[in-house]
Amino acid sequence: MIGTIGLLGPEARERVARLATAIERAREPGRDGVAPAAGVPLADRPIDHACLAAAVRRVAAVLADAGALSADEVAAIEGHADLEGDLAAVLAWATGRPASPPFEDAAIVWSVLRLALPPFVAPCLPTPRETADRGCPECGMSPDLAILQASGARILVCGACDMEWRADRVRCPFCGNASQDLLGYLAGGGAGLVIRVCDACRTYLKTIDRRVVGGDESPLLLRMLLAEMDLAAAGAGYGPAPGSLR
Ligand SMILES: [Zn+2]
Ligand SMILES: [Zn+2]
Repeated sequence: MIGTIGLLGPEARERVARLATAIERAREPGRDGVAPAAGVPLADRPIDHACLAAAVRRVAAVLADAGALSADEVAAIEGHADLEGDLAAVLAWATGRPASPPFEDAAIVWSVLRLALPPFVAPCLPTPRETADRGCPECGMSPDLAILQASGARILVCGACDMEWRADRVRCPFCGNASQDLLGYLAGGGAGLVIRVCDACRTYLKTIDRRVVGGDESPLLLRMLLAEMDLAAAGAGYGPAPGSLR
């Protein structure tokens, strides 16, 4: 191992890891009636606003329990969760290309919430048709992380349910483009971290090279540690897969 992932110092990293653990515990099956995404067939589900409101409240409660949100911030989030129009704005933002959070109040909170929300929200959503044929074998959603293993194999990680599957190393997982002229890289995040980009569909995928950086972080912790890569990709004009949860 040459280094650790992300730019955080040991203390901040420890805090983020505790938060990720709290969220992951809350995702375990059978807790509070919010089903985890894994194993739940998403196809043909209508968007269920009651389900979405429950997911937003649940994540806010988990983040508050973990000490990441104040009572005022929880109240602001719950106020939005009560309104169907506000939830539609949250959903559009969470499933669209990177842009500002939907509300001025508690903007940083919404950014944290966006990272935590997808596994809770996935059961509330239909499978996006345009990605279903190339998406997660479990739930049909799009990958948001790629991991190059020691063997050189490329593993994609589902942005909704964390399922992992092996994929072609030289093909865009979103549009299928394999033309090397239209595939590239952006630097960002440090050694062993690369933002793979596709100019055919203007998408990006955060890629972790485990031959360079060691560790066994969970997908959620990786997303929290690598948030600056999302900003770098957005700044260069690339977005996540259309209809993805991130
Ligand atoms: Zn999935
Ligand atoms: Zn593409």
